[in-house]
Amino acid sequence: HAMAGLEDLYREIILDHYRTPRNRGELDPPALSADGHNPLCGDEIRISVAVQDGVVTDVRFSGSGCSISQSSASMMTSAIKGKPVEQVKSIVRRFKQMMTIDEEDSEIDESINLGDLEALQGVVKFPVRIKCATLGWNTLLDALATEQK
Ligand code: ZN
Repeated sequence: HAMAGLEDLYREIILDHYRTPRNRGELDPPALSADGHNPLCGDEIRISVAVQDGVVTDVRFSGSGCSISQSSASMMTSAIKGKPVEQVKSIVRRFKQMMTIDEEDSEIDESINLGDLEALQGVVKFPVRIKCATLGWNTLLDALATEQK
């Protein structure tokens, strides 16, 4: 039926990003970088992000882990590349809201279209996997936060 079709599509999107990751690799300094680790699952992610004049000009991810952690990071890099940092932070908030984290954040822009990222909303049904899906996103915030230091 219809729901099964949608779940199949979501699974396809996730597997596609897992098998053919976008923006995989690392960037040299002055690009900002941070490492993230999800001990519950063993996922490891390094995010490198190049920021110029307030815009994310390039972003890469590396690491290893389950299909959810790796495909979520791949989708994230596709979603934020070329966007202003402020907009990137809004996308992160919107994504984490979808993953039922930060539900009560009133600053969330509900109009942000998450596109393929919606494929990950099924993960919410498996609470233990939410940390897998959000690992790359939290690591991205850590990397961006190093800029102020
Ligand atoms: Zn995982």
